[in-house]
Amino acid sequence: TLQARAVSAWFGNHKVLERVSLTMPAGQVTALIGPSGCGKSTFLRTLNRMHELIPAAQFAGEVLFEGEDIYGPARRLTDARRRIGMVFQKPNPFPAMSIYDNVVAGLKLTGTRANRREKDVLVEESLTRAGLWKEVRDRLRQPGGALSGGQQQRLCIARALAVRPRVLLMDEPCSALDPTSTRRVEETIHELAGEVTIVIVTHNMQQAARVSDQCAFFLAEQGTPGGIVEQGSTERIFSTPEDPRTADYVAGRF
Ligand code: ATP
Ligand code: MG
Repeated sequence: TLQARAVSAWFGNHKVLERVSLTMPAGQVTALIGPSGCGKSTFLRTLNRMHELIPAAQFAGEVLFEGEDIYGPARRLTDARRRIGMVFQKPNPFPAMSIYDNVVAGLKLTGTRANRREKDVLVEESLTRAGLWKEVRDRLRQPGGALSGGQQQRLCIARALAVRPRVLLMDEPCSALDPTSTRRVEETIHELAGEVTIVIVTHNMQQAARVSDQCAFFLAEQGTPGGIVEQGSTERIFSTPEDPRTADYVAGRF
């Protein structure tokens, strides 16, 4: 279980998140929905300390992973990143690096050791879980940049999975993909669910309804920082939202 408690975030003196609290239960899929600019990506990045890469980004609050504060003084950044992987909106494999090396690239970054045999196993396992193994098993030495956009996105999912994260954060993973590739990524999410805790940002309400167990609706009303208006089971958020703004948003009236 991943738990954000009163998370606030600023860029310089522009406050973009105001005390956001959200529990993302282990093995479930949580969708973050809401209009552009309301802080979904920023919130997602605070969940594995990715925002620390952005100059001028500041943070307050707590993020607990299995009860332990990932920002606590004893916690190392690589620990958080190893357990909490991330996939971005634009597929970003290392284009000149082979498919094989792309999959294992995260190991070095997170300080995970593996010998050649262990890497071979991880590459097959991760590509299989990402739904890409059959398409690339005979071309593992080809550059990552030679794959289609949808394949590149699944390669990035495999790269994130290779470190065996417990949580996978996905920021609009399908926005650059065609319907077939989107379906493959959704199948991958379904396969991982139960085992990996998934948090996905999406602008596609049908997708949120298809893949998630719970939804959190983010909103930043003019001049105010972003926050969660309503959260709950996906079924309830879509059928009987409590807040009229949620109702308007999920019905596409925003
Ligand atoms: P979208 O749906 O368009 O991706 P979002 O909900 O993900 O939007 P964020 O990207 O989290 O929104 O942005 C929230 C606010 O923070 C916006 O006002 C944005 O301008 C600001 N912001 C985001 N990243 C930065 C940055 N690196 N520097 C300064 N301001 C930023
Ligand atoms: Mg975003």
